[in-house]
Amino acid sequence: MSPVGSESVRGERDVAPFAVAGRIVLGGRLIPGAVVVRDGRIDAVLRSPRVGSLPDTVIEAAIVSPGLIDLQVNGGFGEEVDHDPAGIRRLAARLPEAGVTAFLPTVISAPSAAYGAVFRAFFEAKGAPGARPIGLHLEGPYLSPERAGAHPLAAITGADPHLLDELLQGEGLRLMTLAPERDGGLGRIRRLRERGVLVALGHTDASREAFAGGVDAGATMATHLFNAMSPFAHRAPGSVGAALVDDRVTAGLIADGVHAHPASIELALRAKGPERIALVSDLMAAGGMQPGRYALGGRPVVVDATSARLDDGTLAGAILTLDGAVRNVDRWTGVGAAAALRMASEVPASVLGLQRVGRIAVGFDADLALFDADLRVEATVVAGQFVYRRDRPSGGTHYPSAHPGGTPVRDDGPLREGG
Ligand SMILES: [Zn+2]
Repeated sequence: MSPVGSESVRGERDVAPFAVAGRIVLGGRLIPGAVVVRDGRIDAVLRSPRVGSLPDTVIEAAIVSPGLIDLQVNGGFGEEVDHDPAGIRRLAARLPEAGVTAFLPTVISAPSAAYGAVFRAFFEAKGAPGARPIGLHLEGPYLSPERAGAHPLAAITGADPHLLDELLQGEGLRLMTLAPERDGGLGRIRRLRERGVLVALGHTDASREAFAGGVDAGATMATHLFNAMSPFAHRAPGSVGAALVDDRVTAGLIADGVHAHPASIELALRAKGPERIALVSDLMAAGGMQPGRYALGGRPVVVDATSARLDDGTLAGAILTLDGAVRNVDRWTGVGAAAALRMASEVPASVLGLQRVGRIAVGFDADLALFDADLRVEATVVAGQFVYRRDRPSGGTHYPSAHPGGTPVRDDGPLREGG
């Protein structure tokens, strides 16, 4: 897997440099300062910019965050990730409204014959403007029939053992969710890891021991912790218990208050710390839309104000975009806004092994999400290009620096508050 890098900075070299000023998410803290963007990259991170040291265009925001990275996006804004590249393109164009600058288009378990078209659609849509589709997340089909959730059971029980060979023939697969306890599960994990594909354990009925065996084999993630996995019980801690106490595991978490109670989110944070939890949206087609009838993997789904469900009541993906999950974590737990934003940017980037996104640091791609004081997205920047701006009275303003003498902010060391 090639890291997101220069190939993703889409040749946009002719945009004038600009700066974004506000409280910057750095090292899990909010530090006042300015980020200078030039040629699609972060050129400087300054704590107290000298008057005249910034480019002519300075945009102010309450909070300047690395762009959000969503590891699990089945759809949204009326689109579903499937064989149609136009759907993925439209999704990529809309996700910046949620501060998302990179995402993994995700499909649930499907018949073997369906996957080829999904890969073709992904490659056709790959260079689309907006949030970057950086690889596919295949959730299934090698899952536990006991923990199918909204996945079609026939696609799980009938999963072709040879399908993995086909899936691994080309590039494109970045993350696979599987159940380690299925026949051949551990061998599958090793093969995926050999090919540089990240493995998440999920939709699994594994005991603590079987889950740990999957991690020993190379899995590094748990998919939507708490949901569709063997639950915690004091004598049988299950997949949930295993994921909570194993520091090798980064847990994906849907923080919509429907998939997990706020107290469960707090529990996960206390057990693992924000650095090992990646907020995911698990967004389905109805995300960002009105209640009504939609589809997930071709199955009809009824959507109300807070949830998406099959006719039998089974949860079928989520409808809260990733920025909403950040606000919930900020509101429901004591970790603070910077940590919540880090869980939706640096943590997913780190677990994916992305080299130049997920943090605000000199030389990194200028993928940024600008928030107001209520943690609502004001603007989103991908590779130095504004791909989303919420309507507001004026765009660029000059940074009112009261601090002569600029100090470059280090991105790799401890920082004190202030500036
Ligand atoms: Zn799932």
